[in-house]
Amino acid sequence: MTEVKTSQMAIDLEDKYGAHNYHPLPVVLAKGKGVFMWDVEGKRYYDFLSAYSAVNQGHCHPKIVGALIEQAQTLELTSRAFYNDVLGVYEKFITEYFGYQRVLPMNSGAEGDETALKLTRKWGYKVKGIPENQAKIICCRDNFHGRTITVISMSNDPDARKDFGPFTPGFEAIPYNDLDALAKALEDPNVAGFLVEPIQGEAGVFVPDEGYLKKAFDMCKAKNVLFIADEVQTGIARTGRLLACDWEGVKPDVLILGKALSGGVYPISAVLADDHIMLCIHPGEHGSTFGGNPVAAKVAMAALEVVRDEKLAENAEKMGAIFRDELRKINSPYIELVRGKGLLNAIVIKPFKGKTAWDVCLKMRDNGLLAKPTHDHIIRFAPPLVITEEQVHEAVEIIRRSIKEME
Ligand code: PLP
Repeated sequence: MTEVKTSQMAIDLEDKYGAHNYHPLPVVLAKGKGVFMWDVEGKRYYDFLSAYSAVNQGHCHPKIVGALIEQAQTLELTSRAFYNDVLGVYEKFITEYFGYQRVLPMNSGAEGDETALKLTRKWGYKVKGIPENQAKIICCRDNFHGRTITVISMSNDPDARKDFGPFTPGFEAIPYNDLDALAKALEDPNVAGFLVEPIQGEAGVFVPDEGYLKKAFDMCKAKNVLFIADEVQTGIARTGRLLACDWEGVKPDVLILGKALSGGVYPISAVLADDHIMLCIHPGEHGSTFGGNPVAAKVAMAALEVVRDEKLAENAEKMGAIFRDELRKINSPYIELVRGKGLLNAIVIKPFKGKTAWDVCLKMRDNGLLAKPTHDHIIRFAPPLVITEEQVHEAVEIIRRSIKEME
């Protein structure tokens, strides 16, 4: 096996042998612990991306890694052809944790979204009585729900769609945070569900108006339409509540979780719903070889216990408020806006002296903090939720210094 001795060597290997489907910031990470990562040469960085909010519990959390190792040495995978002695325990645990009657375990976030879409269509036909093949699902413009063909059929991002058609029919995209558009779309009796991110993460951390989610939920109820929340990025304490929907007291009919459900150590997603929805799916109609395997089940339980035991939602709310306050004190021609909730935040960058958000990220990397631009001019800041107040201040100082060095 080739040994990676320098960062450049790792970059060259990926460049030569990997598909070119990503454009990473040039930094090669070799180790992680808590809020920090280290590169091949041993330089330490604050992680302000947390693998797109998958590492909410901090890198290499001993309890989560311990659960992974222990179960992997005992029983790793049975498939769902047989029962195993862990899955039911996990299903009881996670449904009680989030207050639902049933869970359908999957692996990636996109699969969680696909599952929710299939479930919603099935419910539309079996329960709501929509005529065959007429079910419609309302989604939002500028959404991000993953990369499968059905999921990108809901997207309006040209990079996500171009040359990947034809697309899956049955979706209507409306502007985000627009209740009038929702009301109009809901007039169609064939609408089965409304799929929404409580905060649009990939779009650049767009926080909707206060009351949007609750009103949208009530409007869906009035029309017998399922409210489907994609909390793959916003869920599991990221925004300062267990779920971002909790901010408005909304309990989605269908809840999609992923990313931090595993604390970053394993791909785990889940769809939660009550009996009258979930039991529309029968044996043979949906599933996945790895979904709900014993390792995933143990890891997810450990990850959720850490969130509760370490009060990560409370910490995210507190640290997020401090972080935004401190960021807003930075006076720079580069910063147009600071926004976010809990520890899901972003700054909108104004190009200045020919430099862009990418250059700001490179400068922050040089100074020991990793973040990534989304949509060219927005930088998302989403550190692990275990961050302390002292670390928040140190990180803001790195961001401030980086921006000042570019003025
Ligand atoms: N849904 C949302 C809201 C996301 O942010 C993402 C990933 O960023 C996904 C779904 C897709 O998750 P995955 O990359 O695990 O398929």
